[in-house]
Amino acid sequence: MAYVIAAPSISALPVSGSADLFPVNRIFCVGRNYADHVREMGGDPKNTPTVFFMKPSTAILPEGTDFPYPGLSKNVHYEFELVVAIGKGGSDISTAEAKNHVYGYAVGLDMTRRDLQVDAGKKGQPWEVGKSFDHSAPCSKIVPAKMSGHPEKGAIWLELNGKRVQDSDISQLIWNVPGIIASLSTYFELLPGDLIYTGTPSGVGPVQKGDVMRGRVDGVGELTVRVV
Ligand code: MN
Repeated sequence: MAYVIAAPSISALPVSGSADLFPVNRIFCVGRNYADHVREMGGDPKNTPTVFFMKPSTAILPEGTDFPYPGLSKNVHYEFELVVAIGKGGSDISTAEAKNHVYGYAVGLDMTRRDLQVDAGKKGQPWEVGKSFDHSAPCSKIVPAKMSGHPEKGAIWLELNGKRVQDSDISQLIWNVPGIIASLSTYFELLPGDLIYTGTPSGVGPVQKGDVMRGRVDGVGELTVRVV
């Protein structure tokens, strides 16, 4: 059976220690998952529930690729995050079983048109124009869990032009990785190739053309992205 138009290409990421690629299916994102970031956005962690949203797989920007400053915004922010790559799908996955569904881990940036996101939020509108635009999901190579293990603690930091702007530890996640997988899989059947951006610590801020973002999660990897 042929398609009536050209079939879309598959977004994919390189994998550490392999010549093969990880095919990206959907990109789920967790919002408000570090208490210090909830506070800097004006919320109270006790009364601000963690949220899920999505980006299209076409938002992936593999390492080595520049981030083009998007249109329609004057306030584009970085949010540096631990990323989980799902290898085995499932619904209603228990926290005890969650790790068996993880192929590996990466580090990524949830680039955000903050002005459009905040404006949509005030109007009770969806976040897509602020969060789900083209190239809004820079991501490192995937490190298989068989190499990295399943990191539960370790520094997460981002430098903007060499200055440390985000500095936390993944042990500070409100929902840890098994908790995210358990909750998310009650809303959606997770599928192989899905990515989960797990949320950002405090210190988010704007970028300008020419800026260089460099981030690291200990035990997972690094990502460097230039804004053009
Ligand atoms: Mn985020």
